Amino acid sequence: MDYIKELNDTLGYSVGDKLIKASGERLKGFIEANTFIARLSGDMFLVLHYGIDTKASINKFAERLIHCFQDPVKINDCEIYTSISIGISLFPQNGLTADDLIKHANSALLSIKDTYRNCYKLFETSISEKFKSLLTMENQLRKAIIGGQFELYYQPQVDFTSSRIIGVEALLRWRHPEKGYISPRDFISIAEKTGIIIDIGEWVLHEACRQNKKWQDEGLTPIVVSVNLSAVQLHQKGFVGKIKKILNETNLDAKYLELEITESMAMKNEQSILDILQELRSEGILVAIDDFGTGYSSLKSLSLFPITKLKIDKMFMNKQDENRLIVKSIIQLSHSLNMKVIAEGVETKEQFTFLQQEKCDEMQGYFFSRPVPAYQLKEMLLNDN
Ligand code: C2E
Ligand code: MG
Ligand code: MG
Repeated sequence: MDYIKELNDTLGYSVGDKLIKASGERLKGFIEANTFIARLSGDMFLVLHYGIDTKASINKFAERLIHCFQDPVKINDCEIYTSISIGISLFPQNGLTADDLIKHANSALLSIKDTYRNCYKLFETSISEKFKSLLTMENQLRKAIIGGQFELYYQPQVDFTSSRIIGVEALLRWRHPEKGYISPRDFISIAEKTGIIIDIGEWVLHEACRQNKKWQDEGLTPIVVSVNLSAVQLHQKGFVGKIKKILNETNLDAKYLELEITESMAMKNEQSILDILQELRSEGILVAIDDFGTGYSSLKSLSLFPITKLKIDKMFMNKQDENRLIVKSIIQLSHSLNMKVIAEGVETKEQFTFLQQEKCDEMQGYFFSRPVPAYQLKEMLLNDN
């Protein structure tokens, strides 16, 4: 069933439960000769059907199942529209055992679940290959956590007037035993899909806070450490409690921790996200919107959400006239909403001068420094002090 998680989040679990029950009833109504229906888990149903073999008849069968969910379900006087996605495997082509058939139907489902809703997909071997490499990657990521293969690099964030380092962004690096350094762009999305991002994210938070406190203990002027969050982490139960625990364990004052979330995470206008952000803010933790300008922001949410900083995406740094206008406007917007603003991806003196003229509070980019290991950052801080 599609969107059960979203429905649970917005309408509550009891409505979600009723919806799953009602959907089971609908499927029951579908039972005909040669069909067997069972609920596998949560919002997942299994339909076993004998005696169809042509592609056309398989498609027709799936379309009829999807059609069952066309009308809304009535729950507590409320009409709720729901939909399903179907993964299909065939006996004997895609497996001889129930286990294999279910596994392959499931991978067909997973291959469409992210992008499409209300649709079906027949298993293909290429899916199996993709799924397998996903599983291998997941295993390797698990090993990476245990085996200490993750490292944090830190990229300075400088003040626009003094050019002093006032913060750093913690950026994750994976030192793979065979493949060398792997960029977060190549593994974060897989880590999100498999859920292992929760463990990785916790390690990142702990390590960033620990390191920041260590610099303070070494007598350096305190700076803010910025940590990137994934949506999965923010939606996790007890997230704020976890952060508080980490701050406690590492003894870092909350005002030296900033969390970076993306526009799409923040602007969903969900009450639950607003609550979490408010809780973080009431602890004193700073909240920044990363890659600002690349997603969709509602001005209403921007003014409503307790955000402390906008990070202008690096795509606006090239010097086309329209980009300059956009950068100018974002700086003004941030200031009128009482937020700080930082430009990412500053690479040239020219960009630096322009941002300085426009009074962009902070800057980050190769012009100042690439992300560096902790010991190198310490040297920079020492030179700065
Ligand atoms: P991001 O948060 O927008 O981070 C900025 C990226 O821009 C970094 O790439 C940084 O190395 C790069 N960058 C910095 N200055 C410049 C510049 O002047 N020019 C150019 N062209 N690039 C610059 P990186 O380290 O490869 O990270 C990529 C993305 O991976 C990050 O984008 C962030 O979304 C994600 N990421 C990194 N670490 C973590 C983490 O611990 N957790 C999560 N969930 N995501 C992370
Ligand atoms: Mg970031
Ligand atoms: Mg960014």
